Amino acid sequence: MARTRSSFFADVNRTFNRAATHLKFPQGLLDQVRACNSVYRMQFPVRLAGGKYAVVPAWRVEHSQHCSPTKGGIRYSHMVNQDEVMALAALMTYKCAIVDVPFGGAKGGVKISTTKFSTEQLEMITRRYTAELVKKNFIGPGVDVPAPDYGTGEREMSWMMNTYSAFHPGRIDAAACVTGKPVSQGGIHGRREATGLGVFFGIREAARDEQLMRRVGLEAGLEGKTVVVQGLGNVGFHAAKFLTEGGCKLVGVAEREGSIWNPAGLNLADIMAHRSESGTILSFPGAESSEDPSEALHIECDILVPAALERQITQDNAERVQAKVITEAANGPTSANAEEMLYERGKLVIPDLFLNAGGVTVSYFEWLKNLSHVRFGRMERRLQEARGSDIVGALEALTGKKVDSKVHLDLIHGPGEVDVVRSGLEDTMIDAYREIVERLRSNEKIKTLRTAAFTLAIEKVCKSYLELGVFP
Ligand code: NAD
Repeated sequence: MARTRSSFFADVNRTFNRAATHLKFPQGLLDQVRACNSVYRMQFPVRLAGGKYAVVPAWRVEHSQHCSPTKGGIRYSHMVNQDEVMALAALMTYKCAIVDVPFGGAKGGVKISTTKFSTEQLEMITRRYTAELVKKNFIGPGVDVPAPDYGTGEREMSWMMNTYSAFHPGRIDAAACVTGKPVSQGGIHGRREATGLGVFFGIREAARDEQLMRRVGLEAGLEGKTVVVQGLGNVGFHAAKFLTEGGCKLVGVAEREGSIWNPAGLNLADIMAHRSESGTILSFPGAESSEDPSEALHIECDILVPAALERQITQDNAERVQAKVITEAANGPTSANAEEMLYERGKLVIPDLFLNAGGVTVSYFEWLKNLSHVRFGRMERRLQEARGSDIVGALEALTGKKVDSKVHLDLIHGPGEVDVVRSGLEDTMIDAYREIVERLRSNEKIKTLRTAAFTLAIEKVCKSYLELGVFP
């Protein structure tokens, strides 16, 4: 096997090319789908303390406009570069296709270390970046809709929406120009935890699959499975929370400052409290620790959840990974070479373009909410509660017995927004999983879930182009 280290975008395209060999589309169409359509590189100055200035490089990449708007998060990181943003934008196209979200893929990056700037400076940078996007028509409810990613969250989305609205006074759909906003600013209940919850649903589906679990020597089901999580940010924290609530045992964790582990189990809430008090996970009582954050990737466990950044498992450390299932909560944590090595060692990789699609799925719900200007559940909640109450009344009259109080409560509970959102997310993840596994099992030449997922995504995007009449 070649031991060269290619670019992230080249890695994505390598997987694309491998998947495309299982499909029959004209090469020109495949070339169009694979390419990034628009790459906007900008830079702007930020005033620092003492009258100094720093120049901030930033990007927005729209990978494919086969559907409008395009959609993808904004990453704030001192390591971000154009190749990474292009790769992540491409992954967004394929991710949206996998979960049937009618968006093209996009991604943004701002090359800053968030810890080196004050809140005021971060606000200034975010507003300036948004203004640059407005100037070139790279943002808008029907054009391109950013969302949070590594280093950004609700606060940044709120600043972006506010800036966009200032440039478009009176535009009734302005709130739909970004997703992942605070609920008070047009956000949706359930978005904050959506990616981590989607990761949980995806892992749960794979764990229920006896055939797949047998392949890696595991029993079906989540109960008692040991888990290691790398990165306790938005995605990692929520994935760890739902997995432990679902019966898994957390045995290792990594953050920037290092790794901790304990085969007897670690309590997530206690780790979070300990970190916020002491500023580190390293001195967590009862756990062994290392100042190397990548150490956690090599701990013995059933399920490894990389939820920090890309390129964490590469050809340099893939042989040390002991987990049986590698579940890509982050984007691109496993390099293409590393995945081949893991596959040869009998490991299962659940790919990012499926597993972390919960965020964009719920972002789609938020966008729909912003366009319809009505909260999910608002129109039907009371009606459903009244119906539930009638059913309970009829049951009690028929049987002459009182319905158990918990069952009673469940039956009369009308769905609020978070119930509708979570149910839509669960349905989406289950459907996507089934489609991918069906593709894997229907073609014996397809060996991995990633290749199966890519063939599905490419097929959907190609069909969309053909139906647009671009390739008659
Ligand atoms: P985040 O900024 O909330 O969290 C990332 C966490 O990783 C932070 O706590 C950070 O301290 C930690 N970290 C950084 N370097 C580390 C290292 N070397 N080892 C261990 N921990 C480290 O970001 P996020 O939104 O949770 O995104 C994480 C990943 O998930 C990214 O790859 C992102 O692209 C992907 N993703 C995010 C979303 C979303 O909705 N936020 C959706 C899909 C995919």
